[in-house]
Amino acid sequence: MAYQELSVNGSPRQTAAVERVVEARLPTVHGEFRAIGYMDRRTNQEQVALVHGDIAPHGALTRVHSECLTGEVFGSNHCECGDQLGTAMRMMVADGSGILVYIQGHEGRGIGLLAKLKAMHLQQAEGLDTVEANLALGLPVDDRDYTIAVEILNDLGVESVRLLSNNPRKRDALEANGITIAERIPLLIPPNKENHRYLLAKRKRLDHSLPHLDGLLG
Ligand SMILES: [Zn+2]
Repeated sequence: MAYQELSVNGSPRQTAAVERVVEARLPTVHGEFRAIGYMDRRTNQEQVALVHGDIAPHGALTRVHSECLTGEVFGSNHCECGDQLGTAMRMMVADGSGILVYIQGHEGRGIGLLAKLKAMHLQQAEGLDTVEANLALGLPVDDRDYTIAVEILNDLGVESVRLLSNNPRKRDALEANGITIAERIPLLIPPNKENHRYLLAKRKRLDHSLPHLDGLLG
């Protein structure tokens, strides 16, 4: 594919490094998708996008989803990632088309799986919230880079999206790199007793738009 120049968070412009490697039909419990595999030549990381239906350059229902092994594979109730992933895929099928860009390497908002488990331990043992726990470990609160997601959306010919997200930083990062957010569509998962403090911290400390938590006590 052609190289493109991207500006990332005001840092020097970078050269797109994504390469489309493979495409396969992927029937799932949520519906039929195409799995499009990419290699990020910058990081040598494998990435995948799932596409349902025919994608137009404008207005595709889109989820840029950060990897979360505990939430998605193990069904952890500590966070709502697993429910968000399945809900997003079902919404795409109901809508007739959609794009899921699943970003490997985004565990724990980019700090990695073991650091995320350490942060969870600190939340349980010390009563810290998700932000305080990362800081106590000497780690960034959010270290996620969305460059690869933008490059994959570019490769898919997408110019504007209806973004399934509660996270203003994600919206800003995509927009800063040339993806127009035509609409932000909330992805609200009902809280449970294990994750309601985590969700409240995401709202209070990370500015996530979670109006369904109104009235919930921290
Ligand atoms: Zn999670």
